[in-house]
Amino acid sequence: MKVHITATPEFPLKTVKEVVDILNQTKGYLEFVYEEPFSYEQISLYNAKFETPKKIKNLTFDEFFHLCHCFRVSNNLPKEDYIVMVTSIRNTSNNNHEDWFSAFRGKNIFIYGLDWEYYTKHDDKYGIAYEVVENIFQSQIELNIDDVDNEPNIHAPSIGCINDMCTDKVDVMYKLRTADICDSCIARANEKKIEPLLLQHVIELIEGLRKEFISSNRITSKLKPDIVHVNSNRTINIGDREFETWPIQKVLFIFFLKNKEGVETKFVCDHKDEFYKIYDEIRHPADISVIHNMFNKNKLGDPSFGINKAKLNRALKELLGKQLADFYLITRVVIEDGTHVYKIGLEDKYIRIDPKE
Ligand SMILES: [Zn+2]
Repeated sequence: MKVHITATPEFPLKTVKEVVDILNQTKGYLEFVYEEPFSYEQISLYNAKFETPKKIKNLTFDEFFHLCHCFRVSNNLPKEDYIVMVTSIRNTSNNNHEDWFSAFRGKNIFIYGLDWEYYTKHDDKYGIAYEVVENIFQSQIELNIDDVDNEPNIHAPSIGCINDMCTDKVDVMYKLRTADICDSCIARANEKKIEPLLLQHVIELIEGLRKEFISSNRITSKLKPDIVHVNSNRTINIGDREFETWPIQKVLFIFFLKNKEGVETKFVCDHKDEFYKIYDEIRHPADISVIHNMFNKNKLGDPSFGINKAKLNRALKELLGKQLADFYLITRVVIEDGTHVYKIGLEDKYIRIDPKE
């Protein structure tokens, strides 16, 4: 059975190809095929939002499945094959689910391809590869993802089965590491008369991915962060390296080091006074309009909060390298009640902030 894996046009092709390679390392019933994604021009014919891609905030489940359908038709792919579309566009469903890792309808699947590295501490490609296998399995057992509460084979809280709901996204790591399918889900697979070779392949695939997770985890777990030290004159050192960057990016860094619990994404702009106070410590007298303009969508010129955050993270990666930088980045995280926060995940014991002199 063929599984065609493609992406929306903004998503890095390299990652998609790597996902296909990883999956094909475990040979079996399923054959994974890389498919050249739609160009913006092509995809705009099926969804006009792609005419202005920068304005796309999210797509509905229906829109994603429609794109899968159009991809199948325009490439003449048989209806019994699976289509997987990997994307960095966020998703929202008609019944208020949003930001799912992935979803399927029939043999169409979409997968959100970012943030995996944060949750799993591994390269995105392993998380995406796992989601491909998971969705195929779920589609085969006809899991009812539209009625999560009444579907007995969706597990919340997590039990370490492929069908764990993982509303707490940190649980994903647990699911990936255990690489298991519980008895009740195996029973469901038998009841639905899944092709035994397919089930066998699914089990071997998740077992193969588990090995990748565990082995690379041993290497990364030895890595410990250095202490980040904000001096009284507001220079910043990470270990014995001085972290130099634009003042406004230092402001964000110090702000999130101070606010360890994180700040809900939609309320970041409510902290202008605190941002300004830090800015004034770094560069006195500070111009308050720089802070205001960071959150003013109509004001051109000064970079926005999002751009400054991205530049800060990039500067950290340049100084520390990708793996070590991971401890210090401002990332978007979903906490238990489903709210999105920006935060730095570094433990308190690695943070030292001196009073301003
Ligand atoms: Zn289960």
